[in-house]
Amino acid sequence: MKEEQQWQAGINTHENAIFSCFGGASNTGITSGLACLEVVKELGLQKAAIMCLGGLPTSVKPVLGKTRAAKKIITVDGCPFECSRKIVEQAGFKPISIVLTRDIGMKKKGLSEDIGREIKGVMEYISDDEVKKAKELIVSTIMNE
Ligand code: SF4
Repeated sequence: MKEEQQWQAGINTHENAIFSCFGGASNTGITSGLACLEVVKELGLQKAAIMCLGGLPTSVKPVLGKTRAAKKIITVDGCPFECSRKIVEQAGFKPISIVLTRDIGMKKKGLSEDIGREIKGVMEYISDDEVKKAKELIVSTIMNE
């Protein structure tokens, strides 16, 4: 029988695991995903990666193994529903939680609210400043000992 892959943070897997919510129908969910991607672009893939959130409830072995190996597990959620924190905790992990409405003061807007009125292009609902603030908070959470 084939042996299970052994994962070691920073050697054959990422040092830190980020789990992002990504609700594409709200400014908060989109900002969460974009900010996490900016973090990985800034720090590089050895330091951090966005892990597959859907791989936890579906018991995908590499996702579980790499998450177990991570030095820090960080969940980034847009709003108080905290979808990623709940999924990560239900899989048995204890993440550091970031919630954008709580931690950078974002106001959630459901993008469907403007359907039938003046619906804009999706990126017009996203603030570069909020993506930057969220990115900086995630980076400092990863880098602080
Ligand atoms: S935490 Fe909020 S913004 Fe993120 S996916 Fe869940 S409901 Fe959407």
